[in-house]
This record gives sequence, structure tokens and C-alpha cells, in this order.
Amino acid sequence: MGLDEHITGRTLAKVEVFHPRAIRRHLLGAGDFVGRLSGREVVAMSRRGKYLWFELSEGLALLAHLGMSGQLLIQPDGAPDEKHLRVRFRFDDDGPELRFVDQRTFGGFLIDDLVTVDGTALPAAVAHIARDPMDPKFDAAGTVRALRRKRTELKRALLDQTLVSGIGNIYADEALWRARLHWSRATERLSAAKANEVLTAATDVMREALDQGGTSFDALYVNVNGQSGYFDRALAVYGQEGLPCGRCGTAIRREPFMNRSSYFCPRCQRRS
Ligand SMILES: [Zn+2]
Repeated sequence: MGLDEHITGRTLAKVEVFHPRAIRRHLLGAGDFVGRLSGREVVAMSRRGKYLWFELSEGLALLAHLGMSGQLLIQPDGAPDEKHLRVRFRFDDDGPELRFVDQRTFGGFLIDDLVTVDGTALPAAVAHIARDPMDPKFDAAGTVRALRRKRTELKRALLDQTLVSGIGNIYADEALWRARLHWSRATERLSAAKANEVLTAATDVMREALDQGGTSFDALYVNVNGQSGYFDRALAVYGQEGLPCGRCGTAIRREPFMNRSSYFCPRCQRRS
């Protein structure tokens, strides 16, 4: 059962903030945060990129970013508190509560207004973020055109959340390997067919990660059990430095990329 099924249709009652960092982006502070949530019904849950939000009654959204280590957990009323419990959301029906647990507290919440962009209601803070390839309204042809108009390296474009969201560092490396493209390939020199191929590969990788997570659309970023299944599965290149490429046997190579790493096969993914 996905997070959305646990939460939608229920009315928030008591909300407790245990660490101010978890609502640091809600500038009006904890008193305002708690006061505005109490009594609101959760109408729907949506996601864009690494943000997810609960659409609330009366045009408001409770927006969450999970950061590096944040988790949203559903726990029975009265279950022992987690060591890194930061925010607790109780509902008026005494059913299971929603908890935000984050060891490093890079993640957090804010309450935002909903605005309408292309016929879709979005929190104002995420209105600039593009749809992800799993989104039913994702415009693949338009994204291919926009990607080829960029004058940048291919992997930077794949990670650019204003172009396409949801493709992280790992998914990008796996998709580039599948499409046999080097991460530093210039986007303006990419054919439409190859651009489409790498976006399709990224979609496949994301879909497989979802299947692995098993539950619902939120499994990419959140797992009700607090684990990401995808990192357990065999990856073709990410983290595989020195190991043989599954296609050609050449040792996988690692290069520094924006304070992180890019993993690729030097034979299958030539630089140009
Ligand atoms: Zn290879």
C-alpha cells in the first residue's frame, strides 16, 4: 500500500515539530506551520522531481523534500518514536500517523500556495520543475527538442530539473550506458534518435526501480518501509569501477563529475 493510499481523504489533527531544521523553509515558523495544517483534509498526493506534496483543502499544499536521508513513514498510533523523528502528523481518526524521520535533516517541509501551470495545480515552489518521464503527461518529443537546444554536456542536461526531472546521478549513468553514450557528449551534436534513446533508457531504469520498490508511484523516493530496493539490484556501471562491462568485458571507468562521479564503459561509450 502506497503512501498516498494511507493519507488521502484523512484530516490532519495534531502536528508536532521536533526539530526546527525540518521546517526551516517555512519562514513563518513552527506555530504557523502547525496551526495552518490542523483541520485540513489531504485531498491528493503528487510528486515532481524530488519533491512531493499533499494537496490540502482550500488551495494549500504541504510540500516535502526528502533531502539525502529523509523518510516518510506510516506508523501505528503509539509505536515507539524513531531516534531521528523530526515531525509527526496525527489525523483526527486515530488511524496510523505519518512521520518524517531524517538523520541529517537536509529534508523538510513548507506550506505553499497552489498555482496552476499548464492546467495542473502545483505548489509555487516547484512550478519551474519539469515533469519526469514516468508522468502520464510527460512530453517526450518536446523534451528531446529542448535537450538538443541546450549547449551543454549530455549528463548535465539529464540532471537538469527544468528540462526533465527525476533522473538522478545513478539513473543517468545507467541510462547512458544502455544508450552507449559518453556522459560528456555535447547535446547539440546529439541526433534526435539518440536523444530519444537515452531518455527512453532513463525511463526504463526508473520503471525497473519502481518495480523493485514494488508499491506505487512514490517508491522512487519514498518507501513506506524506509528502504530503496533499487540500490540492492545489480547496476551495469554505477559503482562498478574496474569491473568488466556486461556487454564487452572492458573495465568500467570512473571520472569526476560535478563533485560526484560518472561511471561508464570506455569502449561502449566513446567520448565523441
Ligand atoms: Zn562495454
